[in-house]
Amino acid sequence: MKSPVPGYLSRVLASSSASSGGAVADYIPELAGADPDHAAIALATVDGTVYAQGDADLAFSIQSMSKPFTYALALSDRGIDGVGERVGVEPSGEAFNEISLEPDTGRPRNPMINAGAIATHGLVSASSPEERLERVVSWYSRFAGRRLDIDEQVARSELGEGHRNLAFGHLLRSFGIIDGDPVPVVEGYIRQCAVSVTVEDLALMAATLANGGVHPRSGERLLDPKLVRHVLSVMMSCGMYDAAGDWLTTVGIPSKSGVSGGIVGVLPGQVGLAVFSPRLDRHGNSVRGVTMMERLSEDMNLHLMDAARPARSAIRDVRRVEIHGEETTAYVLHGDLVFSSVESLIRRLVEDPPTTRCVVFDVDRVDEVDDVARRMAVEAARSLIDDGHELALADRNGVLGESGLPASTAD
Ligand code: GLN
Repeated sequence: MKSPVPGYLSRVLASSSASSGGAVADYIPELAGADPDHAAIALATVDGTVYAQGDADLAFSIQSMSKPFTYALALSDRGIDGVGERVGVEPSGEAFNEISLEPDTGRPRNPMINAGAIATHGLVSASSPEERLERVVSWYSRFAGRRLDIDEQVARSELGEGHRNLAFGHLLRSFGIIDGDPVPVVEGYIRQCAVSVTVEDLALMAATLANGGVHPRSGERLLDPKLVRHVLSVMMSCGMYDAAGDWLTTVGIPSKSGVSGGIVGVLPGQVGLAVFSPRLDRHGNSVRGVTMMERLSEDMNLHLMDAARPARSAIRDVRRVEIHGEETTAYVLHGDLVFSSVESLIRRLVEDPPTTRCVVFDVDRVDEVDDVARRMAVEAARSLIDDGHELALADRNGVLGESGLPASTAD
């Protein structure tokens, strides 16, 4: 059988070709030479399958799509508070290369704009600028699942024209946001932006975030789930610069664009996405890339605010069974147990309490139980015991773990 996914992706790519507006970034001389008609798309699943179409082998510089990954590394090194002292998490509503510093503290508004990304680069722990850059590049490589390298031509080209970023560096130094000499920090940042990637690399990097910080192929944990959540939140609110609000309402996927023409997007629990096409709109976001992401979101129901299916009631069935000759009420539960589904079970127990002394919770058809649901279920069970019931659990797969409840001998 043939998978329909590649054909679908190539249709998305083809349908975006009508979006021919915009212009290739030329403030970095090396980018001005990009072929504006190149285009590619890739989707990586959380189990490591990558589908790619178009110019999928074409390497381009990662540019600002590097920012969330360096931010993740700085967070791993210093924690959320340690980074937060120097870089904020508020959308600036301004272009990527605006100053956007808080008036009193000089703290950049967020790590997705250049000022914040430069400060973030400086927060990666290292004993020298060279070691810092090497840590950054190998960190991206672990997300991509292969060794990535810096495109020296792109790096040199931007270093030669990096006056504005250097100005940010000095300004940040004057506020004490960067320690020591700011020039190597800015150079390190510019070099991180010149790391060469393909859409497949980006899709896998994104899929690692979609997979809660565990690389889909190697199974290696790269980032703590709390930090993944933090990075994705900042991508959602700040990743598309002054188009962030529009992006949230239309596409609804935490994303980051870069001036080379790429956009990388993460749908938690589902997929990593990457699109590429060099012509940019006035915000510095790829015109065809935006069209492709809009279409993916729409067709595949990927909008984050759509993704939350209303939780089903936890109760599949309530049965009367006989266990060891005693009449018993069995609550057969199913689906994922989360706050709202367990709440509906508890409400049922309160409003229509079991009339038998013996009660069984059958969770054999339950897929997953989150922490709050586990705590609520255990409390509900205790309260039934307090009311004089004898309680047992049918939990063949151990989804409730060490609940402290007695296991049922019933099947
Ligand atoms: N290296 C670029 C810069 O600093 C990155 C900007 C971007 O991709 N938006 O200007």
